[in-house]
Amino acid sequence: MFRKTIFVASALLTTSIAAQVPPSEDMRLYDIGAATSGQRISQDVAKLVSFGTRHSLSDTRSETQGIGAARRWIQAEFEAISKDCGGCLEVFTIADTVTGDRIPDPHEIVSVIAIQRGRHDPNRMLFMSGDIDSRVTDPMNFTSTSPGANDNASGMAGVIEAARVLSRYKFSSSIVYAGLAGEEQGLYGGKIVAAHAKDNGWNIDAVLNNDMIGNIAGINGIIDNHSARIFSEGVRWVETKEEARKRYFTGGEVDSASRNLARYIKRVGEQYISNLDLMMVYRLDRFGRGGHHRPFNEAGYPAVRIMETNEHYDRQHQDIRSEDGRHFGDTIEFVDFDFAAKLTALNAVSLAALAWAPAPPSDVSVEGIVQASTTLKWEMGEDTNLAGYRVYWRLTTEPEWTHSRSVGKVDHFTLDNLVIDNYLFGVASVATDGNESPVVFPGPAGAF
Ligand SMILES: [Zn+2]
Repeated sequence: MFRKTIFVASALLTTSIAAQVPPSEDMRLYDIGAATSGQRISQDVAKLVSFGTRHSLSDTRSETQGIGAARRWIQAEFEAISKDCGGCLEVFTIADTVTGDRIPDPHEIVSVIAIQRGRHDPNRMLFMSGDIDSRVTDPMNFTSTSPGANDNASGMAGVIEAARVLSRYKFSSSIVYAGLAGEEQGLYGGKIVAAHAKDNGWNIDAVLNNDMIGNIAGINGIIDNHSARIFSEGVRWVETKEEARKRYFTGGEVDSASRNLARYIKRVGEQYISNLDLMMVYRLDRFGRGGHHRPFNEAGYPAVRIMETNEHYDRQHQDIRSEDGRHFGDTIEFVDFDFAAKLTALNAVSLAALAWAPAPPSDVSVEGIVQASTTLKWEMGEDTNLAGYRVYWRLTTEPEWTHSRSVGKVDHFTLDNLVIDNYLFGVASVATDGNESPVVFPGPAGAF
């Protein structure tokens, strides 16, 4: 009898300690990672291609051809998805009239947005975006056939498919599905939507911009259907001179919120999706080239670009033609839909994990000059699902976080005998279901 009592007491003790540490996996994310459909993506890419051209200056009145028909179809798809989930999406457009180098006369640029509103923190937003528009060799040519099957019907179809999958779930933060317009003319849709977000006080913690997610046969001769790239800015575009000075002496060149978002996507994607190797590229974008995550970075929001590893330049921004037996043009037969579905799943698991996690910690700081130990401090969050925090550290030369530990529901923690000079440190919020925020690097260099 006595022994039995002891046993029960120790079992209770074990349970109470275990209860403080949330689970390390969320089984729902395996389901989400397996739920995207290459077949549905192929139908949507074919539909987008069927509009002939989606050039930003093309016809807006036809019901079957041009950018107007394309964006109305995207809006109708979001509305149909919303109908299937009892009206879970708020579908609307964000537009502005612009002129520029590639838009000689004032022209309305119309992006299509669908918001799946979070239950606990509805103003915290996680974006997945693709582009509506397409182009051929001459960026001003708005009449020639311009399928843009990979660039970027693949990304747009991925956004629609992610909405289908994720709208079956409820999240604590909001997920925003965005079809951004005017990319090829000068990243206009992204600029307009980022400005709208600023004006309306949207708290955007992540933009996952998908630009070309369906090419597996590269111009370099490599055929590869199991890897993808995540591009992210290193130093924030919006860093002030004073912040740059602080960073110069304490670090943070490779720990912007965007970079830690990239690390997060890599970790979650490789955990929950089979046969997917993610390459972080420590660069804003491809060398000297652009994408729609950039206007969000320029507005101060964490944003990354997700795309195939091996591009094929004969199939980007080209008039459809054949030269000496060599095909040019972004036509649909070169899009690998199962690969696009895999990268869509990467987005979906990342967005779900982010939207189930608490907000990233704010006001993170670190101290420990000429001491044996390092102390991290942050502001205690108010999320109803907040279980506590996990502190992270790594050697300064490591690309990813290598060490971490749970520290409970506290607003500071001292790592004994870890000297501040030799490591980079950060902290993440952890939900009761185990989902974590991205790691936040201390100070303005890493703030979300
Ligand atoms: Zn392009």
